[in-house]
Amino acid sequence: MENARDQRKWRYGNKPDEKGEDVKSYAGYLFDLDGTIYLGEELIPGAAETVARLRARSARVQFLSNKPIARRESYAEKLSKLGIATEAGDVVNSPLASARYLAAEHPGASVLSMGEAALNEELTEAGVRLTEDHEEAEIVLASWDRTISWPQLDAAHQALRRGALFCATNPDTVCPLEGGKTVPDTGAIIAYLEASTGRKLDIMIGKPSPIITEMALAEIGLSAEQCLMVGDRLDTDMEMGQESGLDTALVLTGVTARDELEGSSIEPTWVLESVAGIE
Ligand SMILES: [Mg+2]
Repeated sequence: MENARDQRKWRYGNKPDEKGEDVKSYAGYLFDLDGTIYLGEELIPGAAETVARLRARSARVQFLSNKPIARRESYAEKLSKLGIATEAGDVVNSPLASARYLAAEHPGASVLSMGEAALNEELTEAGVRLTEDHEEAEIVLASWDRTISWPQLDAAHQALRRGALFCATNPDTVCPLEGGKTVPDTGAIIAYLEASTGRKLDIMIGKPSPIITEMALAEIGLSAEQCLMVGDRLDTDMEMGQESGLDTALVLTGVTARDELEGSSIEPTWVLESVAGIE
């Protein structure tokens, strides 16, 4: 009879020598949202129970999203509605990280933002000066705008050609939707501007950047070594852990399939069928 341990190894074990250990306990957990906690409007089965279990033993839980088109208040509302009681302060996303980063590191600089209202409101509230004038822009913040126009792309192109600092909210080339569909995200805009200007991005703010990671860790008051990063993407969530020294758990409920792990240079600490596997 196949014993339970072999099954556990398949469920939990990443490396053959891990012998199917249970995921160890951490003081803090950073959870990606899309593909990890929910898919579209549906919670991943077991996600609410996992968060409740962690909170019951006083572990710190923080949600971390790269998606630049919503404010953290709307995530808190969505999660609460889905059964995971969440406040805005429990969420760090790329608009918040961009606003805090630019306000702290480039105070007073004129920023040409390529994002939607959610991003621009966050920037303005943090005291970041926005401009649409490419001759005035000292920083171009590439992002995702579902109404982007050629004049906006041209303005960013001209500002970058003039030497503006090239920043971006997040590197995701696409955003996955239900049913396997995807739509273009910030990464595609970065690629467009890199192609037109011959420049490379200077500063990435969203995952896997240490900028957003350090912000999330500061919010929960823990060090990288005390926390587990849980997410569905190798190139953002898992790489973020690797870059900043957090253990990582890859969940297979989102964009990454188990066979993609082979040949990847990114090696998660744990590989789980879903967040339900976190004790
Ligand atoms: Mg995700």
